[in-house]
Amino acid sequence: MPTATMSMTTQKIESTHTSGVYPKRDLTIVRGQGAYLWDDQGRRYIDCAGGQGAANLGHSHPAIAEAISQQARTLISCPEIFYNDVRAAYLAELTAVAPGELNRAFLSNSGAEAIEAALKFARISTGRRKIVAAMRGFHGRTMGALSATWNKKYRGPFMPLVPDFTHIPYNNIAALEAAVSDATAAVLLEPVQGEGGVRPADPAFLQAARDLCDTHGALLILDEIQTGFGRTGALFASEYYGVTPDILALAKSIAGGLPMGATLLGPRVGVLPRMSHGSTFGGNPLAAAAARATLRVLQEERLPQRAAHLGALAKTRLSASESPLIRQVRGLGLMIGIELKIKVGPVLRALQERGVLALPAGATVLRLLPPLVISEEDLTYAIDAIEAVLEEM
Ligand SMILES: *Cc1c(COP(=O)(O)O)cnc(C)c1O
Repeated sequence: MPTATMSMTTQKIESTHTSGVYPKRDLTIVRGQGAYLWDDQGRRYIDCAGGQGAANLGHSHPAIAEAISQQARTLISCPEIFYNDVRAAYLAELTAVAPGELNRAFLSNSGAEAIEAALKFARISTGRRKIVAAMRGFHGRTMGALSATWNKKYRGPFMPLVPDFTHIPYNNIAALEAAVSDATAAVLLEPVQGEGGVRPADPAFLQAARDLCDTHGALLILDEIQTGFGRTGALFASEYYGVTPDILALAKSIAGGLPMGATLLGPRVGVLPRMSHGSTFGGNPLAAAAARATLRVLQEERLPQRAAHLGALAKTRLSASESPLIRQVRGLGLMIGIELKIKVGPVLRALQERGVLALPAGATVLRLLPPLVISEEDLTYAIDAIEAVLEEM
């Protein structure tokens, strides 16, 4: 079958049988390697979408492929009612690199699940119900995580959600002070808001959140699902800010692209009642093996340092741009947001034509989440393409 027809077939089948909840781009991706993706016509793209944050190590990293294939031949399923060697090794390695005294973890399969667990553990361990989250915050789409998510686009169709969630303006310390009380179970924040437009926290804001939680006996939950695993130039953004949470939610790049989530628990989170939470797939050896390899690669290839270096380079280049269509360049490490004065949709399509894939973050923000293994040359090509596209608009 000619490739153009193949592509039509793939797109037709998906369009017919998928749920329809995703807006689709006219592009069929069939292969990836490092920071490159290939479509079914054999055309190569520089990937600045990074699997929406799941591909920090790049696509099909040989160490991840090897770890997965070896573990697949050894043991795939093993629910947590049994002990398992690979899971145990991973728990030890993950908690060793985690900030502060986050010495225990609940393992799951996605970001939303990592947040659900965080919310449940915060309620159990404080005996309180109220959660303070932020406007423009994004924490996932299951009913609990969605209650913490702010955007009406996600929440609207599913009301009523879980009660006792409030949303304060991000980076507004006075509003945070007014919202947190002795009835607050937890404050839930992203160190850099991702979906909400790539907005880094002011250091004083995160520190105020930490202090207010301490004063009122509430727990600080940091959602590092997108900022984690090297993305912002440190292994976790909380290290960069010097603020240690009581609960840390992780997912996306945790297992080199395999589905996995983790909720790390600090000393102020009590011992949880048996059977108070659980997950059939949580802590499965296949994901644990991939996650172990991920930590090794991050360290061996010094990917957090690489993200810091390349991110600074990109930000300097973009900030120097004279394009009248750029309102602001924001971000931390290789998590970059370019706020435009125009809608981002046509810019994304024009970039795709030039062989660069990127993401939106709201209607007017162009978001770049390239794999941290991207070469300086390819990153420069992507930035040149952005400038050229904006010049044509
Ligand atoms: C992607 C994301 C989530 C949700 O993760 P899923 O795996 O899609 O459920 C939650 N919080 C943040 C900050 C995210 O970027």
